Amino acid sequence: MPTVGWIREDALEAFYEGTERTPEPGPPAKPTFRCPFCISVFSVQRELYDHVYKTHRVERPVMFLGGTEPTGRAVVRVPVGRSAIVVANATAVRIGIDGGDPQRCLPDAVPKKLADTKQGEMKLVLLNESQVNAEPVSTHYTISFRIADTHELRRVEDAFAEILVSSSITRDTISRFLADQRTQGPGKEYAAGLGYYCLGVLIKERPTSENLTTPLARYRELYGSALQVLADFDRPLARLIAGIVRFAMNDFSDAGSSTGYWELDLARLLLSDPGRARMPSSDVTAKRRPICPIDHGTARILDLAARLSTQSRWSPILDDECREIASSDVLDATDHQKALAIWAAAAWRTGSTGSAIEPLTQIAAVYPFNRWAEPYLENVAK
Ligand SMILES: [Zn+2]
Repeated sequence: MPTVGWIREDALEAFYEGTERTPEPGPPAKPTFRCPFCISVFSVQRELYDHVYKTHRVERPVMFLGGTEPTGRAVVRVPVGRSAIVVANATAVRIGIDGGDPQRCLPDAVPKKLADTKQGEMKLVLLNESQVNAEPVSTHYTISFRIADTHELRRVEDAFAEILVSSSITRDTISRFLADQRTQGPGKEYAAGLGYYCLGVLIKERPTSENLTTPLARYRELYGSALQVLADFDRPLARLIAGIVRFAMNDFSDAGSSTGYWELDLARLLLSDPGRARMPSSDVTAKRRPICPIDHGTARILDLAARLSTQSRWSPILDDECREIASSDVLDATDHQKALAIWAAAAWRTGSTGSAIEPLTQIAAVYPFNRWAEPYLENVAK
C-alpha cells in the first residue's frame, strides 16, 4: 500500500508539470553590445566603449586664424594670408556671406575664400561628418571682414590730421571727423578706433566748455575700445596711439618696442625697468610735428619722466614737485601712481634712495609697479 507521502509527491509532480515549464537546458544566452556606428558586435561592454573611442571618435572641427581660434564674433581688420588660415577635423564647410544662402565647400577651399574676402559678414559652419550614422559635429563662426587698403587708411589719417589734430577736440569735431566723407568707406573701422581715442581724451580732460555728464572712469572703456581696434593696424599712427593708451592704463608690457616718440619710449622703460643702465635720449635735432592729441594728464606724466630721468642729482625741491603731481585733484588715479613710480625710479637712479622711500611705500603693492618697488623697498630697509 503506498504511503501517504508517495501519493503526495506524485500529486505535486503532476501539479508542477501542469503549471510550470522547465527551463531549456544549456547556459544562458550571452548579452551582446552593438556598435551604433557600424556592424561590430561585442560581448563585453568595455570592448564596445574602447571600440567607439578608438574608431568612431568625432573630433570638434576647428579653424585657426593666425594661430588663434576666432571668438564667437571676430572682426578681421587687416589682411590674413592663406598660410595663416588652418582648418582641422572638418569634412565639409558651409559658408554664407552677408546673409546669403550658405554654399557647401571642402575644407581645403576655406583659406582662399577667407583670404580673398575684404568686406562683409561671413557665417562659417565647419562640419565633421566622418561618422555616417551619427549627427555631424559642427562649429560655427561669424566673422566680420572690415579690411581697408593703404590708400583708404591714409584718407582717414588725412581727415584725422585736418579735423582732430590741428583744432581742439570737442564732441563737435569728433562728430565731424566720423561724418567726414573720407571716413565712410572701408576705413570706417580705423576711423572709429581713432574716434574712441579722442572721445577718451575729451572725457579724461573734462574741459568746462563741454559740460560733460559722462563720468571720468568712462575714459578707460573708450581707451580700451580704441586699443582693441588700433592694435590690429600696422600703421605708425595706430602704433603710437596704442602705445599712449597702454601707457595711460599703466600697461608697460610693450615697453621694448619703439613708438618713435622718445618721451613715451623713455617713460615706458623707466617705469617698467628703472634699474636699466641706459635710457633712450632725445634727438634734439629731429624735426617734430604733432601727429595725435595726448590727454593733458598723460602729457604731464611724460614731461615729468623726461625731466627727472635726466637729473644727475636729487633735492627736496624735486620731492616736492613729485608729491604735488602725485596728489593732484585734477589727475586720474593711474596718473598719480605713475607720478609716484617716476619719483621713486628717478630718485633711486641718482642714488638718493632715502628720497625714494616715500613713493616706494605707496606703490609697493600697486600693480604693475610692485614688481620692482617691493624689492627696492626691502633693499632700503636692510
Ligand atoms: Zn563601430
